[in-house]
Amino acid sequence: MRLQTPALTILLFSSAFAQSPLTPGVRPFLVVDSPVVALEHVRVIDGAGAAPLEDETLVLRGGRIESIAPSSQARVPDEAKRLDLKNHTVIPGLVGMHEHMFYPSGGRIPIYTEEAFSFPRLYLASGVTTARTGGTLEPYTDLSLKKLIEAGAMPGPKMYVTVGYLEGKGSFTPQMLELTGPDDARRFVEYWASTGAQSFKAYMHITRAELEAALTAAHARGLKLTGHLCSIGFREAAALGIDNLEHGIVVDTEFMDGKKPDVCPGFGPGAADLEKLDVQSAPVQEMIRDLVRHRVAITSTLAVFEDAPPLERRFVDALSPDALRNYLTGRDMLPEADLKLSALRIRRELEFERAFVKAGGLLQAGCDPTGDGSALAGFGDQRNIELLVQGGFTPVEAIRIATLNGARFLGIDRETGSIATGKAADLVVIDGNPAARIADIKKVTLVFKDGAGYDPERLLASIRGQTGPH
Ligand SMILES: [Zn+2]
Repeated sequence: MRLQTPALTILLFSSAFAQSPLTPGVRPFLVVDSPVVALEHVRVIDGAGAAPLEDETLVLRGGRIESIAPSSQARVPDEAKRLDLKNHTVIPGLVGMHEHMFYPSGGRIPIYTEEAFSFPRLYLASGVTTARTGGTLEPYTDLSLKKLIEAGAMPGPKMYVTVGYLEGKGSFTPQMLELTGPDDARRFVEYWASTGAQSFKAYMHITRAELEAALTAAHARGLKLTGHLCSIGFREAAALGIDNLEHGIVVDTEFMDGKKPDVCPGFGPGAADLEKLDVQSAPVQEMIRDLVRHRVAITSTLAVFEDAPPLERRFVDALSPDALRNYLTGRDMLPEADLKLSALRIRRELEFERAFVKAGGLLQAGCDPTGDGSALAGFGDQRNIELLVQGGFTPVEAIRIATLNGARFLGIDRETGSIATGKAADLVVIDGNPAARIADIKKVTLVFKDGAGYDPERLLASIRGQTGPH
């Protein structure tokens, strides 16, 4: 290796950094970049649950929504850049509540690779303007991505970084720390809270004592904690003070025969358990009331449970050749039993989610780009909304679950999550009408984050063939 003078090293390093694919800035992706913008003749679905409004005009100024009015009465400022959006719909930017910046590597042991390049762009291109991560295997990377995005060095959603995994003994991937007890859990929370973590994630083998210690440490700092639990049932977790439970009843082990305290039975409820699980039964209804009483939110992640969803061109385009081959091979070999279990999980979970919402529970939604790799960042958020509608929610309700509800949980609902005067202009423009055809939610033509309009085509073109190992 040739030695370099320190000055030359610094120069080379900083010029490489300036040209890094990680820091291209956002300009190449912006198509609307005016201080004042008018979205004219557009249908509005506000994210707060109101009936859609036809032919409205929104004025955005300085990154905020300045006014919303019927087009016939709207006053469009002279300086506004005007966009005629006839036959289009505007919804709030999605608030993805179970996002990850990693994706399964497809290797022989479960290893997840950080997709620091493609995932922030995929989320934004799909209309996710706010992403709460649901755990990370590279906390430093996620925290750096958040800073780079906030600095405008790269495109991506507004990130809320959840650090985890707070996992007990028995982790299925060697990428997670296995806690040695409550003190270890407390130290984990203290270290990561001081390093920038905004919330925490507990995982499948954590013990009640460890969870309690982690909750105490997180709450003492005003931070929330969510969990994908297995060793601990939902009612136990609610009693300990957990803030949020991921995935819903299809991972709740408390109704399984022979459940032992602090022990995760296998991977949680299987086909036989879910077959006999009755959401209308008294014990399940009592669990639901208990979660509502304790203000425990549920995150819907239906897309990750769906094995072999319809294969989309944009999905194929986003994956690297290796990742695509891995994915398609796995998909071809899916046993019939897995497909049946996938359908049963989605059906049961939707029964639970409808009952939970009916009882007054806060249901939010997220992507969870793990599982067999079908739920890709952003695309999975959209698919989740489609599945919510297939399961009986109205499009307006499903959009609220994917927008305002998440913002409420994060305590940012005065700032974002719905379309209202004064709020940040975090908006998704859709070619079509998702109130009539929910699949239109995928036809994103423009994404506004703080009033800056990003072109999803450019974002997607920039990551073609870049997701997964390559
Ligand atoms: Zn997850």
